[in-house]
Amino acid sequence: MTTKTFDAVVIGAGPGGYVAAIRLAQLGKKTALVERESLGGVCLNWGCIPSKAFIAAGNLVDEIRGAADRGILVSEPKVDVAKLRAFKEGVVKKLVSGVGALEKGNGVEVLKGKATFVGPNAVEVDAGGEKTRIEAAAFIVATGARPIAIPGFAYGKDVWSAKEALDLPEVPGRLVVIGGGVIGLELGTVYAKLGSKVTIVEALPALLTGVDPEAVRIVQKGLRQRGVDVHLNAKAKGLDAVAGALSVRIEVDGKEQAIPADKVLVAVGFRPNTEGIGLEAAGVKLDAKGYVQVDDQLRSSNPAVFAIGDIVGPPFLAHKASKEGEIAAEVIAGHRSARDWVAMPGAIFTDPEVATVGLSEEQARAKGLDPLVGKFAFAALGRAIAIDHTEGFVKVIADRESKLLLGVTMVGPEASDLIAEATLALEMGAYVEDVALTVHAHPTLAEAFMEASKAALGEAIHAINRPERPRKDKGAAPA
Ligand code: NAD
Repeated sequence: MTTKTFDAVVIGAGPGGYVAAIRLAQLGKKTALVERESLGGVCLNWGCIPSKAFIAAGNLVDEIRGAADRGILVSEPKVDVAKLRAFKEGVVKKLVSGVGALEKGNGVEVLKGKATFVGPNAVEVDAGGEKTRIEAAAFIVATGARPIAIPGFAYGKDVWSAKEALDLPEVPGRLVVIGGGVIGLELGTVYAKLGSKVTIVEALPALLTGVDPEAVRIVQKGLRQRGVDVHLNAKAKGLDAVAGALSVRIEVDGKEQAIPADKVLVAVGFRPNTEGIGLEAAGVKLDAKGYVQVDDQLRSSNPAVFAIGDIVGPPFLAHKASKEGEIAAEVIAGHRSARDWVAMPGAIFTDPEVATVGLSEEQARAKGLDPLVGKFAFAALGRAIAIDHTEGFVKVIADRESKLLLGVTMVGPEASDLIAEATLALEMGAYVEDVALTVHAHPTLAEAFMEASKAALGEAIHAINRPERPRKDKGAAPA
């Protein structure tokens, strides 16, 4: 067996690992990046990127359907599934080859194969039976996560995970989605726009648990308008096939119901990929939930092994993994980096989109705070009216005394992009006045953040400022 030696080895080339490898090389480390499947990992190949290609296509279909309202007369759009799939594959290919070019350009050696720790400072890379021993002073493990499977719903031709759904084998007549979380709603919305009759089955009493319920109500309205049925408090019990016809058995309030389906998408959460990579041989400990135990510098119980991204726990977000990759690389290079960010944004690509940063109103109240809240509806914003997307709002949450910004929740058009300004504001330690006093170009959707900040101060221009209503839980809280 050949042996190779590097300063640092990164295992897994998703948005955590490929970024870590680039940063290590930039910092002068002789770096190898090991990947068993495809550069870019789940995000580029079977997650964030292909889903955005389909979501954009679904939005286009939706816009065309609604164009008559704006005096543009077109016939009902038809979807050429093969062509749409080819478009998505082109997008993925371009980005994956871009990652390859970046690694090469930075001097990273990319090794195809499966890496397994064989000791505290060595891995074995198996490339189709051909094995190489790789030794290094430091390792970054970035092996990601995979969809959880539920009993009675084995993934296959009829039961899809997000990966199969993003292969777009067909647009099924009836799609039953199990799980009303992020993936269930994003992909459920796309398939509804492309023409499927979609039914969402969620075990909990609400969709998108953890998101501001006011924002979830707007998303739920969007689903309703697109003919999506939602069953809450509904547990998926099993899949029956009678004479070739599928039906999903669900239990609501102790009673069973059957929902006919052509395909089923299961999206009930992720599980970290920590098995089968020899973490025990490397002396890397897991926590009680099965995530790799790391400190604020992403160092595991073996000081030579770092772990980043989904395997160190939620939130399962590509940009969080990338940030952790940069931090781990910098720590390995001797910098004093640490996980010390203030703001970690989240973006959910439903229709309308939801984006969050910092505390939600509910989270602030759960912490015992009585926050200052300012809200501005897109329905009152010129640009939103002009583009015919008036659904949703921006809500700012701030400390009542100091007016320090604590969080922002947005639901509405382009919320996933608009959240960047709020993220910067939080990271910079902005006060509500900072945002309210900042001139925003008119007419833009970004004005909604400025107006919501003004509203928190009772100074909104394009909405009537009303005194805060007394809250039952916190007593009167005059502005
Ligand atoms: P999720 O945790 O967002 O949602 C899973 C949902 O399934 C939950 O609401 C849960 O209550 C429900 N559920 C669980 N078991 C069930 C059952 N037997 N019957 C019915 N409902 C059931 O998980 P996901 O949507 O699979 O996404 C996986 C992870 O990836 C999440 O952490 C998500 O945040 C992340 N992700 C993020 C984005 C984004 O940020 N845009 C996109 C995709 C995925």
